[in-house]
Amino acid sequence: MDLKEYERKRDFLRTPEPRGAKSGEAAVTHASYPRFVIQEHHATSLHWDLRLERDGVLKSWAIPKGIPLRPKLKRLAVQVEDHPLDYINFEGTIPEGNYGAGQVFIWDRGHYAAAEYTEKKIELAMLGQRIKGGYKLVRTDGNSWLFFMLE
Ligand code: MN
Repeated sequence: MDLKEYERKRDFLRTPEPRGAKSGEAAVTHASYPRFVIQEHHATSLHWDLRLERDGVLKSWAIPKGIPLRPKLKRLAVQVEDHPLDYINFEGTIPEGNYGAGQVFIWDRGHYAAAEYTEKKIELAMLGQRIKGGYKLVRTDGNSWLFFMLE
């Protein structure tokens, strides 16, 4: 079976037709997927801010203990206010006396695909420079979520 001609004629990010991707091939690298950023924020207490591009804003969580890099580590993620999209590129120093004063570095950035996205549960395939793979956010109470890597 040769799908070259079929593939040559189509842009599968623009058509709902099946791509017939080879198994194991991930389309998540393409820039049309929503973006994420993780900013390392040296505020009064160090934390990492996870932001997901969604509905024209950056959905945001502060993660005090950092990004889990192996399964079974469940990290508290406190949902904070939505941020504007252009915050995704922000790095710099928030001057003393301002909310969140301190240095902000981009720790990772990339794209994600959401397998599930509800008010209580978000399941993501994340492809960044540092983190690659499945992650889940589960709301536990109010603004508190747990963020962990899928096995
Ligand atoms: Mn922050």
